[in-house]
Amino acid sequence: MRLLVPYMATHLVRPFHRFFPDMLWRVDAEAPTAYLTFDDGPTSELTEDLIDVLAEYEAQATHFLVGRHARNHPDLVRALVAEGHRIGNHTYSHVDPWSTPHAELADELNETTRILRDLTGGPVRALRPPYGHPTGFLRQWCAAENQRMVMWDVMPGDFLQTATASRVSSFVLNHIRPGSVVVLHDNPICENVTPPALETILDTLSAEGWRFDAL
Ligand SMILES: [Zn+2]
Repeated sequence: MRLLVPYMATHLVRPFHRFFPDMLWRVDAEAPTAYLTFDDGPTSELTEDLIDVLAEYEAQATHFLVGRHARNHPDLVRALVAEGHRIGNHTYSHVDPWSTPHAELADELNETTRILRDLTGGPVRALRPPYGHPTGFLRQWCAAENQRMVMWDVMPGDFLQTATASRVSSFVLNHIRPGSVVVLHDNPICENVTPPALETILDTLSAEGWRFDAL
C-alpha cells in the first residue's frame, strides 16, 4: 500500500504524456541527464540544506515556489538564483486548481509571477500546478503568459507520511531514465526525508555519470 501512490503517479500517467504535448513530462534526451524539481519552498527548514546538497554535486534544479513563501523569504529566493537554480510558479497560497474559481487562480498566478520577477529581475517561464492538478484554464493561462506547465516523469512521494529517505531514493534510482523530471519537495513535512534521499540519489547517480540540469 505504501508504495501505491508513487507507482500510480509514475506509471499510470506515463501513457498519457503524449496527449498533453504543451505540458512537460520528460525532456527528450538520450544522455543521462535528469531534471530535479522541488515544490512548495522556499522554507527556513529545508531550502538551505537542499542548496548545500545540490552544490556538493554541482547539480542544478528547478524550484517551484509558493508566492507567499517567496515573499516571506526573499533572501532564500535570491540564494537559489545565485546558485544557478531556476525558479517557477506554484501559485501564491498553494490553492487546488481543481476547486479554485478561475479569477482567483489567475490572481494567485499573476501575484506569484510578480513577486518572483521582482525578486530575481528575470522572467518566470515555468509553472507546476499544486497537487499536480492541471486544468484547461491553467493550460490557457500558461500559453497566454508563456509559462510552461511542468508535470513529472518520476514521483517518489517524499511528502507521504510513510515516506523514508531510503524508500524515496530507491524509488528514484529504480525509475529514473534520461530526461526524467523528478518531483521532490521543499516542505517541512519532508524535513527528515528529502535532504538525505537527495544525497543518496546524487551520490549514486553522479558516480554513474549522470548530470542534473535546471529546466
Ligand atoms: Zn505543492
